[in-house]
Amino acid sequence: MFYDTFDLVRARADTPGVEHVVHLNNAGAALAPKPVVDAMTSHLNLESRIGAYEAAEHAQESIDHTHDAIAALLNCTRFEVAILDSASRAWAMALSSIPLRAGDRILTSAVEYGSNYVSLLHLAQRLELELEILPVDEHGLVDVMELEQRIDERVRLIAVAHVPMHDGLINPVAEIGRVARRHGITYLVDACQSVGQLPVDVAEIGCDLLVGTGRKYLRGPRGTGFLYVRREIAHQLTPAILGLDGAEWLAGTYRLAPGARRFETWETNCASRIGLGVAIDYALGWGVERTSRQIRRLAQDLRRDLAGIPGVLVADRGRERCGNIALTFEDRDPYAVRENLQRAGINTWVCLENAACVDMQQRGLSTLLRISPHYYNSPEELARLCTTLEEIMTVRRVARVVA
Ligand SMILES: *Cc1c(COP(=O)(O)O)cnc(C)c1O
Repeated sequence: MFYDTFDLVRARADTPGVEHVVHLNNAGAALAPKPVVDAMTSHLNLESRIGAYEAAEHAQESIDHTHDAIAALLNCTRFEVAILDSASRAWAMALSSIPLRAGDRILTSAVEYGSNYVSLLHLAQRLELELEILPVDEHGLVDVMELEQRIDERVRLIAVAHVPMHDGLINPVAEIGRVARRHGITYLVDACQSVGQLPVDVAEIGCDLLVGTGRKYLRGPRGTGFLYVRREIAHQLTPAILGLDGAEWLAGTYRLAPGARRFETWETNCASRIGLGVAIDYALGWGVERTSRQIRRLAQDLRRDLAGIPGVLVADRGRERCGNIALTFEDRDPYAVRENLQRAGINTWVCLENAACVDMQQRGLSTLLRISPHYYNSPEELARLCTTLEEIMTVRRVARVVA
């Protein structure tokens, strides 16, 4: 009934991996669609035949296109986009470029990704900044009223994850953006879990900086990340580290590249960069609104079914939850459950505390089993997950009774 309007047959026909595995680790790295795999292997082949620099010249148009694809995805211009080798790198470069001094305050959320949070701690220590965690409402979302209360002239940066790595919640990034804009505070959004999963529009969010990664819901290659830098503030931002694409060397001095380009390095994995562009074109071809609805439908049904399995607890929160489902177990180690599922051909992932240090610690969680469906997953696959999980839970219980 629900799924009839979505062309699942085409989605699966385009995804070679579905023949081999039930892939429910899309928040980790999704299965790439065939056009992405083809574009990348064909470029690698070209590099091996004619030389890598020469292959890059040959494929210049496809390589350049990736900036346009990201701009189309985020609703910005290509000059506001930098492509890097990971979102962590992009995020750290963005942070390093913001002028901050002792006594400045940074407001951030409890669900920030581990490497971002560690970077914040490191910088706060080095520069004597005050790092503050924003309170959340009953759904686990950043409380925007509380945020507004905390603002004074010393707050220089608001950094928030749109969707965390370990939870289905969706932070109110556009409402936070309105507060940031009203007070003229630099606003950095981590959209790693949302790009490709939810519509992400930088104009609507009202952010100054935003990072995304290629391999997750966008279904692009590993080792790709990107940074959006709003045109109006790019000239105020100087990344701590420059490369040959970030600056022009002028015999004895240098000039920073305009716009977001100053955040880039010259060297890049061309096959991956091409693959990222193709992945985004592919996602836009489906329409992110449409695939987003499908992901949320699947996740909603799956949460309900998982919650019905004895011993399984759905731990994620949110007012309107997305595709990232988090489970804990009454008497099972998430690692053992994952291993059993993997043996049955079902991919899931275990999130550790460093997925979102502050939040996991506050809630007394050390590990979670994350199940993250994508639009190409079928209802049959999700039913298979539930049956297998039910078996895993039962075997254990029987074994305990016998013992
Ligand atoms: C994966 C992830 C990151 C880091 O992305 P990389 O490309 O692996 O550096 C940051 N934030 C969130 C919320 C993530 O899920």
